[in-house]
Amino acid sequence: MKNELASPVQTSAILKKYGLRAKKRLGQNFLIDKNILHKIVDYANIGRDDFVLEIGPGIGTMTQLLAQKAAEVAAVEIDDRMVEVMKETLDGYQNVRVIHGDFLQLDLTELMRSYKKEGHRKYHIVGNLPYYISTPILWRLIENREQADTILIMLQKEVARRITAEPGGKEYGSLSIAVQYYMETEILEEISHNAFLPTPEVDSALMRLAPRKEPVVKVKDEKLFFELIRCSFAQRRKTIFNNLKNSRVLGDKDNWDIRMILTESNIDRQRRAETISIEEFGILADHTVDLLTN
Ligand code: SAM
Repeated sequence: MKNELASPVQTSAILKKYGLRAKKRLGQNFLIDKNILHKIVDYANIGRDDFVLEIGPGIGTMTQLLAQKAAEVAAVEIDDRMVEVMKETLDGYQNVRVIHGDFLQLDLTELMRSYKKEGHRKYHIVGNLPYYISTPILWRLIENREQADTILIMLQKEVARRITAEPGGKEYGSLSIAVQYYMETEILEEISHNAFLPTPEVDSALMRLAPRKEPVVKVKDEKLFFELIRCSFAQRRKTIFNNLKNSRVLGDKDNWDIRMILTESNIDRQRRAETISIEEFGILADHTVDLLTN
C-alpha cells in the first residue's frame, strides 16, 4: 500500500471531503512533506516484530507508514472526526488499532501489556505532538519511561532546544534537567513550519529520547532533588543563594545553613541556577538531605 496523504493537495482533499477544518485548540498541524515523513519513519528504525504507539495520528498520514514497518500499531487520537477519517485512510491496515481518547488519560502500562513483549520485539513511541500539551506529554513519557525502548517525537523547536540545553545559557532550566536526568536526548533535525498544514507559527524539531537504565546522577532523595531545582530556578536572574533563601525547601534552616550546603557542594553562592549542572544539583541535594536529617 502506498502512502498518499503527505502532500498539501491530498491532505486538503481529505479534509474537504469530510468537511473538516483543522482545530487550532487541538494542535492540528498535519505533516504534508513526504521526505520528512519518510525521514521520521527511518529514524524510528522499526523492526518487523516491533510495536509502535503513535500519539495523535490525525488523518493517519504517518500511521500508514508505521503500519507498513511494524508488526502492530496503536494510534491514540482525541478528535472523533479524525477517527472517522482514519476508517477510510487506514482501511486495509489490519495491524492498526485506533484508540479514540486523550493520550494524557491513557493507562500506558495496561496498553503496553496488552501488546505482548516476545522475542526481539521493541516498543516505540512516535508522534508529531499536539504542541499545546507537549510538556504534559513529556511528563507522561518520563513517568512511563520504562514502557518504551525508543521515543521519537516532533515538537516546537524552542522546547526541543530547552530539553537538550546544557548549563550556561537561557534555554537551560528545570525541563532540561528533568528530561536529561531520565533520558538521553538528541535533536535529529530542525524542521521548517512549511512542512505542515495549516502552517504553524513556530518551527519544529524532531527529537529522539532514549530512556536511561539509571538516572544520570544517583541522589538520596529524588523528590527533594527536583524541589530544590524548581526553587533554584524560581527567579532566573537571582542567585541560587537568594532563590533558596526565599523558598521553603530548607524548612526553617537559615542563611548560615544555605551558605554551608552551597560551600560543601562547591557551588559559589553568587552563581545562578542556569550555570549549575545536573551533577552539581545532585551533590547539593544530597548535602541538603544530610542537613535536614541532622
Ligand atoms: N500525526 C498527524 C500528522 O503528523 O499529520 C497529526 C499531528 S497533529 C500535530 C496532532 C494530533 O494530535 C491531532 O490529530 C490532534 O487531534 C491530536 N491530539 C490533540 N490532543 C490530543 C490528546 N490529548 N490525545 C491524543 N491526541 C491528541
